Amino acid sequence: MLPEIALTSQIIRRLQKHFGGYIGIYHSKFSQNERVEIWNKVKTGELKIVLGARSSVFLPFRHLGLIICDEEHDTSYKQHDPAPRYNGRDAAIYFASLFGAKTILGSATPSLESYHNAVSGKYGLVELLQRYGDVHLPPIEIIDTKKIAQKDKAKVMLSPPLIDSVNEVLARQKQVILFQNRRGYTPYQVCNVCGWIPQCKYCDVSLTYHKVSNKLICHYCGTTYAPLQTCAACGNHNFVQRNFGTEKIEELLLEQFPNAKVARMDIDTVRGKNAHDVLIQQFEQRRIDILVGTQMVVKGLDFDNVDLVGILDADGLLSFADFRVNERAFQLMEQVSGRAGRKEATGKVVIQTIQPFHPVLKLVKDHDFKKLYDEEIDKRRQFFYPPFSRLIHVTFKHKIKEVVEKAALFFAGGLKLKYGHYLVGPAEPIINRIRNQHLMEMLVKLPRDTKFIAQCKKDMLEQVAVLHQHKSFKSVTVVNNVDVV
Ligand SMILES: [Zn+2]
Ligand SMILES: [Zn+2]
Repeated sequence: MLPEIALTSQIIRRLQKHFGGYIGIYHSKFSQNERVEIWNKVKTGELKIVLGARSSVFLPFRHLGLIICDEEHDTSYKQHDPAPRYNGRDAAIYFASLFGAKTILGSATPSLESYHNAVSGKYGLVELLQRYGDVHLPPIEIIDTKKIAQKDKAKVMLSPPLIDSVNEVLARQKQVILFQNRRGYTPYQVCNVCGWIPQCKYCDVSLTYHKVSNKLICHYCGTTYAPLQTCAACGNHNFVQRNFGTEKIEELLLEQFPNAKVARMDIDTVRGKNAHDVLIQQFEQRRIDILVGTQMVVKGLDFDNVDLVGILDADGLLSFADFRVNERAFQLMEQVSGRAGRKEATGKVVIQTIQPFHPVLKLVKDHDFKKLYDEEIDKRRQFFYPPFSRLIHVTFKHKIKEVVEKAALFFAGGLKLKYGHYLVGPAEPIINRIRNQHLMEMLVKLPRDTKFIAQCKKDMLEQVAVLHQHKSFKSVTVVNNVDVV
């Protein structure tokens, strides 16, 4: 199992060399027909190995002996929408247990939950303390972009030290990966007189400008808008571009390195079924010198000619309002770093940030997962977060703000007596409207007591029914997301 379909193409070529026709691939980008074919071949036992995304746990295996769940920490294992909102990794562990089969979870940056299970003896722990081919982890250089003067106080995209490093690596015929966790051209266009930011009509979200398509796009609902020339609030004609996405960086790279072959990898460039594979093969064959991309370039890919990895905006990773922010930021940066210098000890990682002394950056610099674990696990214990509790995230949706607010309060009110101690909220989320539906959220933090959790589940489902019997709340959507990641 792999968290992303994107990863299957590179790994399948390697596995097929060894296992030939015994191995099949299964994921959602395949057509219904292709999926039926795999389903049948698993059922008859013709396929001995399946490489797939999370949904492959639903194939009709009859003699399952082993599940290997690679990059187990990856949040893509969790399905968010629509239901079933399961986690492929957790489902795999349970599924394997039905066959008395083993599960191997693999990761260089394990999730806190899994690592906690390993050190507390629930899981076995095997540590690979030497990298394949004895490659050293790349040194990490942190660049303080606050110290670099920019006109308009614009954000630094490519700092002079990073540019020097790219030039040096290109001169040696080596390749570069640059990571930026935002797609599009400029995530924010801001009126330079009044500060107005164009927003989606249907979502409480600012629009991202995409230059290639010359459109403003909402990344939540996909609605596209013509680009704006005039501020809707004050009539001024000047917008400043705040922040930057992969598309803008691609443009800048073409300017800065006119002789290099530059390519971009994000969901906008890999829409077709094979587009992603083509990009990866081109990069493998060294027909691309600099690859800029979102998370997609981070995950598990293995290129042996990459000598420089740049993380362009570490601050974007360190600023999420979520209790897992440090864990996630560490995982992403450490995974990106792992793309540099995999075969020869010449790789380097450059991280651009305005907070060079952030504790997570120090841990990334030292590649110190264990220290991250020790620090984070204490906080989780203290604030009763997973792995010490289990979370149920409840979202209420309705087209009228007042209705959804009342419904959320009504729902929580019914559970308060019994579970008041475990409820957080309800409250309005930071993004409080998507696709014209107003949102309210509530978090239920439950102790890891199977009986207690089963009872709570029953009570919550009953409360959903009670809510829907109430005539003003009939059309309120309630989404329960268990073990939200
Ligand atoms: Zn929208
Ligand atoms: Zn304005």
